[in-house]
Amino acid sequence: MSDTRVSLEETAMQRDRAVTIFEKGAPGRRAFVAPALDVPEQPLDELIPSHLRRRAPARLPEVSEPELVRHYVRISRRNFDLDSGFYPLGSCTMKHNPRLHERVAGLPGHARLHPLQDPARAQGALQLMWNLERALSEIAGLPHVSLQPSAGSHGELAGVLLTRAYHADRGDQRRTVLTPDTAHGTNPATVTMGGYEVVKVGTNAAGGVDIEDLRAKADRDVACLMLTNPNTLGLFDPNIEEIARIVHDVGATVYYDGANLNAVMGISRPGDMGFDIVHFNLHKSFTQPHGGGGPGAGPIAVSDRIEPYLPHPVIVRHGGDFSNGSTREFDLDYERPKSIGRLRGFQGNYGCFVRAYAYICSLGASGLRDASETAVLNANYLLARLRQLGVCELLPPAYDRICMHEFALTGGPMKRELGIRTLDLAKRLLDYGYHPPTVYFPLLVEEALLVEPTETETKETLDGFAEAIAEILREAREDPEVARGAPYSTPVRRLDEATAAKQPVLRQAL
Ligand SMILES: *Cc1c(COP(=O)(O)O)cnc(C)c1O
Repeated sequence: MSDTRVSLEETAMQRDRAVTIFEKGAPGRRAFVAPALDVPEQPLDELIPSHLRRRAPARLPEVSEPELVRHYVRISRRNFDLDSGFYPLGSCTMKHNPRLHERVAGLPGHARLHPLQDPARAQGALQLMWNLERALSEIAGLPHVSLQPSAGSHGELAGVLLTRAYHADRGDQRRTVLTPDTAHGTNPATVTMGGYEVVKVGTNAAGGVDIEDLRAKADRDVACLMLTNPNTLGLFDPNIEEIARIVHDVGATVYYDGANLNAVMGISRPGDMGFDIVHFNLHKSFTQPHGGGGPGAGPIAVSDRIEPYLPHPVIVRHGGDFSNGSTREFDLDYERPKSIGRLRGFQGNYGCFVRAYAYICSLGASGLRDASETAVLNANYLLARLRQLGVCELLPPAYDRICMHEFALTGGPMKRELGIRTLDLAKRLLDYGYHPPTVYFPLLVEEALLVEPTETETKETLDGFAEAIAEILREAREDPEVARGAPYSTPVRRLDEATAAKQPVLRQAL
């Protein structure tokens, strides 16, 4: 392989980097030309009133198809994605998305279904949603499901609104919601949006809820406790039944942040642990391209006492009884006087429902359990391998217990002994071809590194990742500047993350 070829390629890419799609092409150039109309042309005025129309045509790029394809393919290659490498981003469950799901979701009956289609002509879609609700209900151990929320955080908002409606219905005014100090940032944010005040509960020496602190704070002002189990440290809280009892004893609801369901699907059920409301992250536990790669879905499952307040419409099945004059087996019920109302337009992100349903059907109950067990095994294997390679002397586990689907390391000793921070390690991992784990979360862990390998990775990948971390530490012992200056191989180097998010530079690679 000659060096000349590489440098020529680089030159072509270099030239292209500075150019946005708006600067490519030429007036009149087209990627696609539609055939001439074979029906009579209709004046636009008859279709769209003039006050709703643009005064001047939109300024759109005019490019050929090869220009269009090359532009976006080139941009896509400058990003890191799950299809090109290991992506152990703790709490986000970046697991492989089976291609079967895409085929099923792409079937015209699914992909081309109009969201305003009359339920009488969308019976198959309603049946799929109804079946998915039943499966999620079984997995959660709670009888009623709404598919409407579009993300985990949206499910949390639904849960807080349901809690408010439940208390209001009893004439009970409450002010606060309890969350552990390990909670995901969306928990306190949602609580605040829902009009409650956040009260933090401490973490005990084992990484679980500090029961004494919870007891002290659980009073009649508390509307709800919001919790994930396993928590964001990747640890299962064995006191969960007692925690639920303490909260129920003061008349509050217990909410399960289901983002960590990947560890317990098919093994233990939030409903059995005592939770009243649960959200699922279909895009995490049940695989969907996510994190900039596609829309999400955050269905909720609830107990009988919360059911009257569910968002409307709800999907109902007229179990073979058509005596009410209906000719439909599945329908949408809007007659819900106590409902918190609608959370979004239409019924939710239908494509996510199809993929999640395909996942559940293709794995079956034992397959879901197997996925969770393998996720937990992979995380414990990776931790053991890191320990074996001596990595844990500088990056010890924040809590030294058997972990669930993820584990939190602290980079405190590494920072003090080698002079590199968790951020430096994360950036250097990019040069080794790995997406870094989650960093600086959970907040109570110094220099945190939260690693979630997922069940879909091979032993070779896990070994390679562990060896890369060991190698970076060896490197840093000799020269910490290497990690401090990383990454070296990415399209852009180290960015000021706040500025990059607020004022992205699209034109020029740095
Ligand atoms: C991802 C996550 C959420 C939020 O879910 P989104 O779907 O991103 O809104 C909440 N809690 C935990 C623990 C999470 O990991």
